[in-house]
Amino acid sequence: MLVVTTSDGVVGYGEACPVPAFTAETQESIVALVEQRVKPLLIGEDPLRHRPLVRTLERVLFGCPFTLAAIDIALWDIAGKLLGLPISTLLGGRFRERIEMHGSVGWDTPEAMVETALAQRTLGYGALKLYAGRGTVGADLDRIGAVRVAVGTDVRLLLDVNGQWSVSQCLEALPRLAELGVVLLEQPVAASDDLGQAEVVRASRVDICADEAIYTPADVAQIGRQRTARVINLGLSKLGGLLRASECEAVARSVGLGITVGSVLELGIASTAGLHLAASVQELTYPSYLIGPLKYERQITSPEMRVEDGEVAVPLGPGLGVEVDTDLLAALDLRR
Ligand SMILES: [Mg+2]
Repeated sequence: MLVVTTSDGVVGYGEACPVPAFTAETQESIVALVEQRVKPLLIGEDPLRHRPLVRTLERVLFGCPFTLAAIDIALWDIAGKLLGLPISTLLGGRFRERIEMHGSVGWDTPEAMVETALAQRTLGYGALKLYAGRGTVGADLDRIGAVRVAVGTDVRLLLDVNGQWSVSQCLEALPRLAELGVVLLEQPVAASDDLGQAEVVRASRVDICADEAIYTPADVAQIGRQRTARVINLGLSKLGGLLRASECEAVARSVGLGITVGSVLELGIASTAGLHLAASVQELTYPSYLIGPLKYERQITSPEMRVEDGEVAVPLGPGLGVEVDTDLLAALDLRR
């Protein structure tokens, strides 16, 4: 967690949740970058000069979007508190008050995946994201088939392969995925293989989504040019925060790409920022995944996040619109 305090005592909260699959940032590297590079640039600045500040920080945080995201979120929180408005309003206003979420079913034995899928369905999710790529293609397709039989036909299935299939494996899997009613196939081949994924897109009736391939608006533009996906995963942490995510959305819309808002299972601060983002995205092509706080033993923000009928309400208070449990955070601080 990152705390930015203005000279008038307004406190903004940010959160960095580094994930090795995206960048080499660590909790320690983020603390060092904030201390050494960010602090000197922020002290004395006007927190409402958001875009100029982010542009300045980008120059010293190249390749460190998770660090940038934490500061970006804290600055939005401060701006909202100063102006008395929720972040979603600052982002241009809400297209929706509640965000539809999909559930998630991690890669496991077929039996365990079926059990998880059934449990998730009873929570009200109308869509489930499954994971594949760790078994053989045939065995993974059988896993998806087992889940499909168990949950019935009215649950939408999304599949995330995290870049672990070759083009040939994708081409082998596509007919069966379409047959099983999988509607979205996320990052099927490695993010570095643009031409390979373009080949998959051309062959596929199932929507192909890019995730690990996108960090900047320029990446989204490139996907539009090369048609390496039809949908992008708009995860605010890997994109460097809400400003950059909004810029990515604008580029995606301009080149006809669909949007799903994802996450890396952050705690309540970044997940709430994701809710504000999802509220301000004009068209959400697929359900979002912003339920990180539910995956932890305790929630650090209140009111606690709750999923009702597969949806989460967007907070309406100033800034993030949530209170942070600073005592709990202090207890969780590894440096203490
Ligand atoms: Mg993904």
